Amino acid sequence: MNIHEYQAKAMLHEFGVPISRGVPVLKPEDADAAAKQLPGPIWVVKSQIHAGGRGKGKFKEASAGDKGGVRIAKSVAEVDEFAKQMLGATLVTVQTGPHGKQVNRLYIEEGSDIDKEFYLSILVNRETSEISFVVSTEGGVNIEDVAHSTPEKIVSFSVDPATGIMPHHGRTVAEALKLKGDLAKQAEKLTGQLYAAFAAKDMAMLEINPLVVTKQGQLRVLDAKVSFDSNALYRHPDVVALRDESEEDAKEIEASKYDLNYVALDGTIGCMVNGAGLAMATMDIIKLYGMEPANFLDVGGGASAEKVAAAFKIITADPNVRGILVNIFGGIMKCDVIAEGVVAAVKQVGLKVPLVVRLEGTNVEQGKKIIRDSGLNVVPADNLDDAAQKIVKAVKGG
Ligand code: GDP
Ligand code: MG
Repeated sequence: MNIHEYQAKAMLHEFGVPISRGVPVLKPEDADAAAKQLPGPIWVVKSQIHAGGRGKGKFKEASAGDKGGVRIAKSVAEVDEFAKQMLGATLVTVQTGPHGKQVNRLYIEEGSDIDKEFYLSILVNRETSEISFVVSTEGGVNIEDVAHSTPEKIVSFSVDPATGIMPHHGRTVAEALKLKGDLAKQAEKLTGQLYAAFAAKDMAMLEINPLVVTKQGQLRVLDAKVSFDSNALYRHPDVVALRDESEEDAKEIEASKYDLNYVALDGTIGCMVNGAGLAMATMDIIKLYGMEPANFLDVGGGASAEKVAAAFKIITADPNVRGILVNIFGGIMKCDVIAEGVVAAVKQVGLKVPLVVRLEGTNVEQGKKIIRDSGLNVVPADNLDDAAQKIVKAVKGG
């Protein structure tokens, strides 16, 4: 799960992390009061969307102007003007894709006098089961470009969560950023604060780009992108409360209500499969036969007919779906339950695209009988290969 920059900053601030003062704004008429709470003379008006690259982004609407998604304002009147232009407009950045994202929230911040821009991120290193830091003197730019052209400017190290953060980790960060004296001390302190926040809130990633040194000699977090480990959300109701559903795929939100493992993709063949491995294999074989999956969906082991029906409805509601492949190898999951769920869903929402069903395993005969007796126009398949070829053929032929 992701949160907005202003939410991430408020969270980090609880751990003592230095940030600029700021006020979130949802309506253009609130921008004036928000700006007046800050001292000026410089304000920064920042689009809040779950995507990076906002500064260099472009709004689709000409009325939003061409100054990007992060703007420096020199007066309260200018803050007002930017807020009117940006709120409700659609921002396209390198991370949003060509459709862009509608800006529904702004963050108005007191401007910083920037001397230097750095990069710092913390993430879970799955290979070593440690927490890794990635630090670079080259901030404010795309870190992938730095990694490509000047990899020697990126310093990375890991912290063993069993022993936790140590003073030497802080010194490594200060050294990587070439900081001396008081600024080195600030970097050491910040390292401990960021690690504490990361561990306490079960973050999966924390990216600060840029971390800046101000002309007044202060280290400050100027941008923050945070994502959380969804498996740990149950113990963080405060984090769940920050969820902004307007930033997420509507189909994925619906799927999460039924505890389905669903990921929306760009292709045209909807997939309903049990087991993540079989779901991956099904997506692979669809690609092998020349088409693309519209989604990843693992209905799980002990799914009820109701859950299967919900899954089927989510698939059929996707306008890109031109064919559906149900591939079930019933072990814990029973084939008759899947069949009942599919039939119930089709009776409710109809079936406008070809449907290929491959059932195997527990209660397979009952499952096949339910589908035969339903009178639905279903193409049966004997194995995975056969199923993939049949759905691709049905979609191409139709
Ligand atoms: P991103 O483009 O989505 O990564 O958004 P950022 O929050 O990183 O902002 C983009 C850029 O705007 C930063 O890299 C800074 O160069 C600039 N910026 C952001 N806040 C300030 C500020 O307070 N003062 C100044 N001078 N520049 C800022
Ligand atoms: Mg940034």
